[in-house]
Amino acid sequence: MSLDPDDWHDFRQHSHRMLDDMLDYLETLRARPVWQPIPQSVRDEFTQALPRAPGTLPAAHAQFMQSVLPYAVGNAHPGFFGWVHGGGTPVGMVAEMLAAGLNANLGGRDQMPIEVEHQVVQWVRELFQFPDSASGLFVTGTSGANLIAVLVARTRALGVAVRQHGLGARGELLVAYTSAAAHGCIAQAMDLAGLGVSALRMIAVDADHRMDTAALERAIAADLAAGMQPFLIVGTAGTVDVGAVDPLPQIAAIAARHQLWFHVDGAYGALGMLSAQVAPQLAGIELADSIAFDFHKWGQVPYDAGFILVRDGDLHHQTFAAPAAYLQRDSRGMGAGSPWPCDFGPDLSRGFRALKTWFTITVYGADQLGAMIAETCRLARQFAAQVAAQPELELMAPVALNIVCFRYRASDAINAEIAADIQQSGIAAPSTTRINGVLVLRAAIVNHRTRADDLEVLLAATLSFGAQRIATAQEQP
Ligand SMILES: *Cc1c(COP(=O)(O)O)cnc(C)c1O
Repeated sequence: MSLDPDDWHDFRQHSHRMLDDMLDYLETLRARPVWQPIPQSVRDEFTQALPRAPGTLPAAHAQFMQSVLPYAVGNAHPGFFGWVHGGGTPVGMVAEMLAAGLNANLGGRDQMPIEVEHQVVQWVRELFQFPDSASGLFVTGTSGANLIAVLVARTRALGVAVRQHGLGARGELLVAYTSAAAHGCIAQAMDLAGLGVSALRMIAVDADHRMDTAALERAIAADLAAGMQPFLIVGTAGTVDVGAVDPLPQIAAIAARHQLWFHVDGAYGALGMLSAQVAPQLAGIELADSIAFDFHKWGQVPYDAGFILVRDGDLHHQTFAAPAAYLQRDSRGMGAGSPWPCDFGPDLSRGFRALKTWFTITVYGADQLGAMIAETCRLARQFAAQVAAQPELELMAPVALNIVCFRYRASDAINAEIAADIQQSGIAAPSTTRINGVLVLRAAIVNHRTRADDLEVLLAATLSFGAQRIATAQEQP
């Protein structure tokens, strides 16, 4: 029973309207609120029982337009500064449609979609100066990419037998290191790999929020003296809170001296390599054993498009490859082209994330993407200077890349209210985080659409909501 339309002409016409609606959305984005609260009646629409009878495409589309599209988090909007979210592009959007139409499964087999992924892998190797023997794989996001890195590092420490027999007694001795400013998914990767969160040493950071390498050396020495087996150091290129870059060359040297795996979580920062201005700040990333990053953050590829790059492609392969009769490899026919992407990660069925990434890089070009990345950093420096010039505001961390942490000179509670006030107003969307225990407002400038005037709106909104909140607080007894 085919699910294709009876009337292709009708379907085609409506599909074109759907495409037009999304192009309209992207073209007029700036005029919309960044985010708006979701009315309960809208939420309630999505608590229905399983529909047994068919509906129509126009009705489902109308419901999407009325009840879903206006209530997304707003990261496509130029006024979105919350967290580290990419903005997406029209090119990525239409490429995603092509991928969905083809419906390729990129687990394996001899097909051009996998060659497209291989092409992107080759570009990534080139960008990070990795050898041709390095392996790369699209994954959901950096969380999954970091987990893969931890698993490959574990294979190197314990040998491939760990896959058959589990961690065993030696596994209990493995310890890893990252900075106190690292993303929570590093600890989660240790958890999921069976090594345990307490086997991850959180190394103190310096005043610039970069890993203190002297403290790292002391921690390694203490673990060795206690009979533990250090196996992995995770450096961060662009911390999620303030955008700090760990001292990667020094960490690489320490890892080499102790023969530890050196992984870089470059979730959003690593693609700074596309910009000749930003790349020097990432120096040392080319020394890593593995790099995890997202095309869906600074790369502006629509969600999701995470990536793992591993210098030792053989070890990566040995960590995941598994024989199965139904995945028989051949030298000809559809079973050719081994090794397959499914040999490098936990996913067998995989979507065509490579296509929207290939389109993005091909259509915009690496230089333009790099210039866009450099521009977000320039905007961050400019915004930081404007913040510093306001007596009511205070800059809370150095601006290394594109994240500005600041606060209104008032209590944590008032700063939290200011963030919520701005979000609710729909005119901009900062997030909050804590720095040295203090709640701060955080503007991550990741979106290629953001301009200087969008940041002026954020600054003005912070000042006016801050003044209002102070006035209200003073009126209360
Ligand atoms: C965003 C981010 C992650 C998590 O990446 P996902 O793609 O959300 O899984 C990890 N580390 C850092 C530094 C990040 O900024």
